[in-house]
Amino acid sequence: MNFYVMTLFPEMIMQGVSTSVTGRGMARGAISVEAVNIRDYTNEKHGHVDDAPYGGGAGMVMQAQPICDCYRALEKRILEGQQAEGREQKKPRVLYMTPQGRVFDQKLAEELAKEEDLILLCGHYEGVDERALEILQTENVSIGDYVLTGGELPAMVMIDCISRLVPGVLGKEESADIETFHDSLLEYPQYTRPEIYEGRRVPEILLSGHHANVEKWRREQSIARTLAFRPDLLPEANLNKKEQKYLESLLAEAEERKKECN
Ligand code: SAM
Repeated sequence: MNFYVMTLFPEMIMQGVSTSVTGRGMARGAISVEAVNIRDYTNEKHGHVDDAPYGGGAGMVMQAQPICDCYRALEKRILEGQQAEGREQKKPRVLYMTPQGRVFDQKLAEELAKEEDLILLCGHYEGVDERALEILQTENVSIGDYVLTGGELPAMVMIDCISRLVPGVLGKEESADIETFHDSLLEYPQYTRPEIYEGRRVPEILLSGHHANVEKWRREQSIARTLAFRPDLLPEANLNKKEQKYLESLLAEAEERKKECN
């Protein structure tokens, strides 16, 4: 999978993605990341890429011209690349990083991981001239309800999350299959050596070697944690009849405790 990041700070992107799991994914050829400098496309003689907002107000706005020219050159290169590799020519999706967008989540990551090419546009300052977003037909995506100074961190967050779902990025020993949010449940608690740490023992069941019982315990822990910390996820969770019963027993216990407190 190929990520193309349109940014004013390409070195920030490349430093961020070149280490650890994404770096290894790049080295293995499972993903590629290219940061394209929007400034290289400005027609302004001093290299400016932003200007004051029409109508007044604080800050600067990224101009449409460098963004549109950068995008057109990039899109042309991607389409030519697809053709050269004998792939079907497909206009890549363009994601604009913005706090005004759809909030990025695991479901969207799973959907985007199926793409071959993805363009991410990073804003800065007060944002981007709206006409550039219309011309590029961007999909607006946010990483949460807070405002950052630029789209580079959001782009790195998305690249990191999507990459883990691309075959060949995670090693054999790592898996994205049974993690938090998979199946709309939070992951069960994890333990490693030593067996006793500061008087706290690893749950006995994990030392039993009984695979089916361990699995059952982990599922129940996942359900209990999700109920405690993210009950909003539960309606989407895929529970079998026994697990549904277990959840009902937890809810009944909680109801009992509430009554006792009143
Ligand atoms: N004036 C803009 C607004 O109120 O919507 C915010 C601009 S913000 C200071 C600068 C840039 O940071 C944005 O153009 C966007 O690319 C990025 N950004 C900030 N917060 C973000 C978030 N939560 N998710 C994704 N991108 C974000």
